[in-house]
Amino acid sequence: MILKKSILKINTLLLKKYGIPPRSESIPDPLDILIGTILSQNTNDRNSYKAYIKLKTSYPDWSDVEKLSQKEIETIVKVAGLGKQKSSAIKKVLTFLKNKRGRISLDYLNELDDSEILNELIKFEGVGLKTASCVLLFALRRNSCPVDTHVNRTLNRIGIVSSKNPEKTFVIINEQMPENIAHQFHTNLIRLGREICKPQNPNCKICPLLKFCKFEDKNLDKVSIYKVNDFLLLDSIK
Ligand code: SF4
Repeated sequence: MILKKSILKINTLLLKKYGIPPRSESIPDPLDILIGTILSQNTNDRNSYKAYIKLKTSYPDWSDVEKLSQKEIETIVKVAGLGKQKSSAIKKVLTFLKNKRGRISLDYLNELDDSEILNELIKFEGVGLKTASCVLLFALRRNSCPVDTHVNRTLNRIGIVSSKNPEKTFVIINEQMPENIAHQFHTNLIRLGREICKPQNPNCKICPLLKFCKFEDKNLDKVSIYKVNDFLLLDSIK
């Protein structure tokens, strides 16, 4: 219950700073999201997007990608890095769906509950909880918050979890996730982690969570505190 209240409080403060993140009206295909997220592992958005677009424009239908050899897929997606591992994971997902489900599609996941979907997806090579939970959130519109390094770092610094393992953090926070906020919570927290609560030198002095955050090593270097007429003023040193 305490964790749920803390998540709500953080979400409210982030909404004040960033607003409600936009969401496309059309719901993305789960297989598109799965393969896009596999390509995004351990690289930046620009390179993973390039690889994804190259794959989709060369072969708009996943059944055509399935007919390629792993080596051919690797050649197309290598700009995303880890080409061998990612092409192998993509090939295996597509071949599994064709041989075991009779159709290259993840639409059947819509019939399953959240934990069944996660269990189904993490059986695939190269698919961990983070990738599987992206499919849950972005394609299946479930109330599930993926935990990447940004989300894990900020939640640990804020002090609502104490776990170096993003998968453990995922389980802890999603057990207490309030209804209908996972998308905004996840998206705004990632933005906070990229823009303010960076791995090195977090910019605590402009952070919307400054008063709530329990991080002991807050970076307030360029901020001094003056006591004036019983009021504390936080003033940036010019
Ligand atoms: S106050 Fe600092 S450490 Fe805490 S969340 Fe904000 S930027 Fe991160």
